[in-house]
Amino acid sequence: MLACESTVSRCLVLNADYGYLSIAERWIDALGLVVAGKAEVLEAYPEVVRSQYLVFPLPAVVVMRYLVRTRRRHAIFDAPSKQAVFTRDDFACQYCGARVSMKSGTRDHVIPRSRGGPDTLANVVTACRACNARKGDRTPSEAGMHLLRPPRPLTDDEKLRCLLKTVRTRERTTWLNCLRRLGISLWASRAA
Ligand SMILES: [Zn+2]
Repeated sequence: MLACESTVSRCLVLNADYGYLSIAERWIDALGLVVAGKAEVLEAYPEVVRSQYLVFPLPAVVVMRYLVRTRRRHAIFDAPSKQAVFTRDDFACQYCGARVSMKSGTRDHVIPRSRGGPDTLANVVTACRACNARKGDRTPSEAGMHLLRPPRPLTDDEKLRCLLKTVRTRERTTWLNCLRRLGISLWASRAA
């Protein structure tokens, strides 16, 4: 019987090429990969998992020993979805700073689509309904509006925040420290 007393349990699972593969929600799944020899621990939490005779480190980040074929999951972070754009912009309208929710906020194409503006993270910002309506089919300068921050691709931290339904800072911090220490970049964004 394995036992672990920990407030964190999720493990970031990297593919053999160090690309993102998945997040193991339960520590026993991540430890199972390690014990079966399918994955190697890159980073562990300070907590341990105990069985009657053995003690295992609690895996925080593991890397697969073989390449798992998978659809290119990182593509979801190249698309300017509401979740990606709002997460990057801290759920604030990029014209007036008003807070928006997933429900109340809108996505604004800085250069309107009708004017050839691309549907990419580098051209889409969070906007409240009022600002979006006011701007209409114009560029910010034509509308006399100013962006608080220019749009950009997501950082790794923002990608992780998009990925995790609930935010547990210690897991994210541990994962990011491991990625930085090893020089791993998650889902290197394609052209913005
Ligand atoms: Zn606004």
